[in-house]
Amino acid sequence: TNGARSSHRLRHVSSLAAPPPSRLNAVVLGDALASEEHDLVIPKPDFSAQAHFPSPAKYLDLYKQSIEDPAGFWSDIASQFYWKQKWASPVYSENMDVREGRINIEWFKGGITNICYNCLDANIAAGNGEKIAIYWEGNELGADATLTYNQLLHKVCQLANYLKDIGVRKGDAVVIYQPMLMELPIAMLACARIGAVHSVVFAGFSSESLSQRIVDCKPKVVLTCNAVKRGPKVINLKDIVDAALAESAKNGTVVDVCLTYANESALTKESTKWVEGRDIWWQDILSKYPNSCDVEWVDAEDPLFLLYTSGSTGKPKGVLHTTGGYMVYTATTFKYAFDYKPSDVYWCTADCGWITGHSYVTYGPMLNGATVVVFEGAPNYPDSGRCWDIVDKYKVSIFYTAPTLFVTRYSRKSLRVLGSVGEPINPSAWRWFFNVVGDSRCPISDTWWQTETGGFLITPLPGAWPQKPGSATFPFFGVQPVIVDEKGAELEGECSGYLCVKSSWPGAFRTLYGDHERYETTYFSAFPGYYFSGDGCSRDKDGYHWLTGRVDDVINVSGHRIGTAEVESALVSHPQCAEAAVVGVEHEVKGQGIYAFVTLVEGVPYSDDLRKSLIMNVRKQIGAFAAPDKIHWAPGLPKTRSGKIMRRILRKIASRQLDELGDTSTLAEPGVVDQLIALADS
Ligand code: ATP
Ligand code: MG
Repeated sequence: TNGARSSHRLRHVSSLAAPPPSRLNAVVLGDALASEEHDLVIPKPDFSAQAHFPSPAKYLDLYKQSIEDPAGFWSDIASQFYWKQKWASPVYSENMDVREGRINIEWFKGGITNICYNCLDANIAAGNGEKIAIYWEGNELGADATLTYNQLLHKVCQLANYLKDIGVRKGDAVVIYQPMLMELPIAMLACARIGAVHSVVFAGFSSESLSQRIVDCKPKVVLTCNAVKRGPKVINLKDIVDAALAESAKNGTVVDVCLTYANESALTKESTKWVEGRDIWWQDILSKYPNSCDVEWVDAEDPLFLLYTSGSTGKPKGVLHTTGGYMVYTATTFKYAFDYKPSDVYWCTADCGWITGHSYVTYGPMLNGATVVVFEGAPNYPDSGRCWDIVDKYKVSIFYTAPTLFVTRYSRKSLRVLGSVGEPINPSAWRWFFNVVGDSRCPISDTWWQTETGGFLITPLPGAWPQKPGSATFPFFGVQPVIVDEKGAELEGECSGYLCVKSSWPGAFRTLYGDHERYETTYFSAFPGYYFSGDGCSRDKDGYHWLTGRVDDVINVSGHRIGTAEVESALVSHPQCAEAAVVGVEHEVKGQGIYAFVTLVEGVPYSDDLRKSLIMNVRKQIGAFAAPDKIHWAPGLPKTRSGKIMRRILRKIASRQLDELGDTSTLAEPGVVDQLIALADS
């Protein structure tokens, strides 16, 4: 069923398993045969020359070493961080097999460190105290601010001292419900400094969702903000927190303190509802605390944070990450997957409420002493050029975003590396990102990973490999992805199946909070001996990986298993199709039918001829069995603010179960749902 992909196959580069490096080098240098292959994008020689990984050969050497001697490989890397005390032997221990007892993963156990110290103090000690840590760009044009590493440390220490003063101790939970102000990364780092476990709840979640998470981890304190402006809208966060705290109290969890940042550009202090004795204004109290604070040294395996998955597939899971392995892994993946250099300015559009904001707004970049842009607003406010204005304003050189987030067409000279995450990026979106945004200069890191994995597992290393549009390419160091069939047998060579990982990597999550059994059954029991990602993947004969979407989303049409991503890629390759999302619906004859939501390029009118020609595209590229049964015109698709398409809502619309749409509160634009319903039978 991977016909759509086979046209992207490359004839002249051999597989990862048996690499002929000389051949690959020839390709990188612009081999004439290879450039005939128009689906192969070869890195520019001047980019490769300056890259951490200038050639496949260098990657392959190090990858081999990381698999053959993981302990040696990771202890060399970990030694570049500050440890109060080195870890005990062994570097890691793991049981990833439910048949052999409890799943248990540990890295650098016995090592004593602190991730906040490594983000701030260590970089300052290395002479970067006056380097910009954060460029903050507000929602409104002209609202901005900066913090150097020294200033950031001071702010973090004041909050850390306050938290200690109200009795927050090592191991205690702290819930953070904040918009993308500088105070959000500050709050995360302050918790880490004192060994408290942060649980950031995306400030778009409803009061019920917030309350569930509060009841789950029972924090002493909630850190929040009175209100935020997102685009033209004011969102009263404090009202949501008040409702959540009232609800939590009914369920037996009373939170003593609600530390509230006064964001007066959105709502004045006077207009903010207040609970005397519980609520404290952030700015009033923190200025009273000293701006230095001793670090709480913690074990590598002490918990760092708790974070819920996006909930695309159902009830969110409370993923727990620990300190040492996560630190080493996020820093290293950041550095290599983005070819990071100290002169770069880096912008990741993700909110810190998601894992991407944890690993690649806060920890990964700051461990590297990077300059990070933190953006409060919406990418299309005041207009759709906003993102590119920000890129220009701060001379952003590394830009990391979700493939579904933008539709405007600009190119920007400062850009060097582009990154994509969250959904499979289809080849035509890849080409647009590459050719138009990146001016055909910038390699694209299509990073495949999950909340659970802590950091990238499959990602290109810019400059190293010839790229294939739409492929996440090869595994990161130390990661052994395997593709298995329904019975859990490992497939070799060119294949398609369930994406699993063999043996652990430092950034792996250690448990689901409070429910280790659910951790074991969800991730380790489907294919014993492996971590099961829940995603489908195919590998082409050159060893490149192609994510095909969640296996729960796989559609079974008359016995053919079809990945949603494949059909979407085929639709989007039509010149008049801007975006597509495909779901399965019940079908009397075929078991399941294919139902496609299609957004057209601006200005293109709906017509039955166009419907036919879209379906034709899928028949030609994949086969008649994959032809959509229904094309539903979609002026927009329901997406979360992290850029994920909410397929569960689309499934309900497709099967006309309109009263079962569920929670739509995290949608970036809830209005699109009504538009879709209105167009259902047109
Ligand atoms: P839940 O697990 O609660 O349903 P979720 O899986 O959407 O939510 P995340 O951990 O934020 O929550 O997202 C990880 C998922 O996003 C991956 O399993 C994969 O399906 C998708 N994904 C992320 N990056 C990529 C990528 N580069 N290519 C393809 N898919 C990706
Ligand atoms: Mg998931």
